[in-house]
Amino acid sequence: MKTLNVDVAVIGAGSAGLPAYRAAKAEGARAVLIEGGPYGTTCARVGCMPSKLLIAAADAAHHASSTAPFGVYVDGNVRIDGRDVMRRVRSERDRFVGFVVEGVEQMPAEDRLRGDAQFVDDGLLQVGDDTRVRARSIVIATGSTPVVPAMYRTLGDRVVVNDDVFEWQDLPRKVAVIGAGVIGLELGQALSRLGVAVTLLGGARGHVGPLSDPDIAAYARGVFEQAFRFESRAHVEAATRVGDTVQLRYRRADGDVVDDTFDYLLIAAGRRPNVGRLALHNTSLALDGDGVPVYDPLTLQAGGQPVFIAGDANGVLPLLHEAADEGRMAGLNAARFPAVQPLVRRAPISVVFTDPGIAMVGARHADLAPDAYVVGEVSFEDQGRSRVMLRNRGLMHVYADRATRRFVGAEWIGPDAEHIAHLLAWALQMKLTVDAMLAMPFYHPVVEEGVRTALRSAAARLA
Ligand SMILES: Cc1cc2nc3c(=O)[nH]c(=O)nc-3n(C[C@H](O)[C@H](O)[C@H](O)COP(=O)(O)OP(=O)(O)OC[C@H]3O[C@@H](n4cnc5c(N)ncnc54)[C@H](O)[C@@H]3O)c2cc1C
Repeated sequence: MKTLNVDVAVIGAGSAGLPAYRAAKAEGARAVLIEGGPYGTTCARVGCMPSKLLIAAADAAHHASSTAPFGVYVDGNVRIDGRDVMRRVRSERDRFVGFVVEGVEQMPAEDRLRGDAQFVDDGLLQVGDDTRVRARSIVIATGSTPVVPAMYRTLGDRVVVNDDVFEWQDLPRKVAVIGAGVIGLELGQALSRLGVAVTLLGGARGHVGPLSDPDIAAYARGVFEQAFRFESRAHVEAATRVGDTVQLRYRRADGDVVDDTFDYLLIAAGRRPNVGRLALHNTSLALDGDGVPVYDPLTLQAGGQPVFIAGDANGVLPLLHEAADEGRMAGLNAARFPAVQPLVRRAPISVVFTDPGIAMVGARHADLAPDAYVVGEVSFEDQGRSRVMLRNRGLMHVYADRATRRFVGAEWIGPDAEHIAHLLAWALQMKLTVDAMLAMPFYHPVVEEGVRTALRSAAARLA
C-alpha cells in the first residue's frame, strides 16, 4: 500500500471535478484527481450532449413531416432509419467525449488516480486496493445516478436509464417512459418524433418538467398530451417481464386502469447523489437524510472540515454550468483553506429542450411571496412571428417585484425558449426593472416581441 501526501484530493473527474482540480492547481496546490469510472463526464457521455443529438434527429424528422401547412409537400415517405439515427448519436457523442478525455490525458500522470475513493478518516482516502491519499482538503464531486424504483429492478435488461438509450444500435418499437421530469420529457418527445410509440407516465403530483407555476404547467401538459401519449398523473400498479417485453398496469388520473406491453421501460424518475460508495460513516461529517454531507451552499464546505462538495453530488442544482462553477469554487476553497470564499452564483436559468421549449429564470413561482409580485403574461398563440413559423404554442409568465419594479423571474413554455431564457437571465443578473427592460430595443417581427407583451402587462399591473 503506498500513501500519497497532497494538498487537495478531488474525487470524480466530471464537470465539477475537472474545474476543481484545475482551480486547485492554479493556486499552486499539489492536487490529485481520482476517477472510479470512465473518463468523459456524464454531460458528454450520457447526458447533455447525446440527449441533444437525439433531439436534433427528432426535430429533423418532425420538420420533414410538418411542411404541408406551408403548401410544401414532401412526396413519398419520410423514412427514419433507427440504426443511422443511433449511429450518429453515438459517433458524435464519442467525439465530444474524446475532447474531454484528451484534456484529462494532458494532465500530469502522477496527478491522475484510477479507482473508487473511500474515506478512511476525515483526511485519508483509500483509492482502489493499493493506494492511500492523505489530503489537507478534499473535494467530493462524484455526480449523481438515476433512481430506479424497487418495483422495476428485477425486470432485467428491458428496464433502461438514459445511459442505456445512447448505446442502442436501433430504435425500439414501443417504450414507456417513467417520469415527466426534464430527462423524461426530452427523451420521451424525441423518441416519439423518431417514430417510437411512446407512453410517458408522470407521477402523482402531475409535475411537468421543473415548472412550478400552475397555469404554465397546465398549458404545457396540454401541449404534450396532444403531441404523444402523455399521462401526466399516473400510478403504476404492476410491472412484469414477459419474454422480451414488459407488461405494465397503470391507473390514469380518471381512475381507468390500463394494461399495455412495451419493448422497454425507460426510467427517468430522478437522480440521487453518488455518496453511497464513499464510506462517509468513517468521517466526522454530519449527513442529511439522503446521506449527503451537510454543507454551506455558499462556500460548499461540509461542516467545519476542509471537505467541499460540488456538482450533482450535493443534489441542489443538477446543471452543467452550476457544476462547473461549484467545482471551480470548491477547488479554490480547498486549496486556500481555511481562507474560504462564498460562491457568487449567476442568475438561475434552466431549459428543457422539448419543442416548444420550457424555461425558467430567476425565482420560481412557487418560491415567491404571494403579495410581493405581479404577473405579466403573453400567449404565443397569436404572437406574430411565432404564428408565421407555425410555432405558435406557448404561454409565458414574467414576475415583477411590486416594491422595486424589478424583474424577478419567469416560467414559460414557448418557441425559442432557450434563447429568450438567456435574455431574461442576463436582465435579471443586471437587476433590471421591467421599465428598463422595455426601454431596450425589440426588432420586428421576432419572438422576443412576445416577451415585450408580457413585460408590458407586468408594468401595467405595477402602475
Ligand atoms: C440525460 C441528461 C441530460 C442532461 N442535459 C443537461 C442539459 O441539457 N444541460 C445541463 O446544464 N445539464 C444537463 N444534464 C445535467 C448535467 O449533465 C450534470 O449536472 C453534470 O454532468 C454534473 O456534473 P458532475 O461533475 O457533478 O458529475 P459527473 O460528470 O457525473 O462526474 C462525477 C464523476 O465522479 C465519478 N465518481 C463517482 N463516485 C466516485 C468515487 N467514489 N470515486 C471516484 N470517482 C467517483 C464518476 O464516475 C463520474 O465520472 C443532463 C443530465 C442527464 C443525465
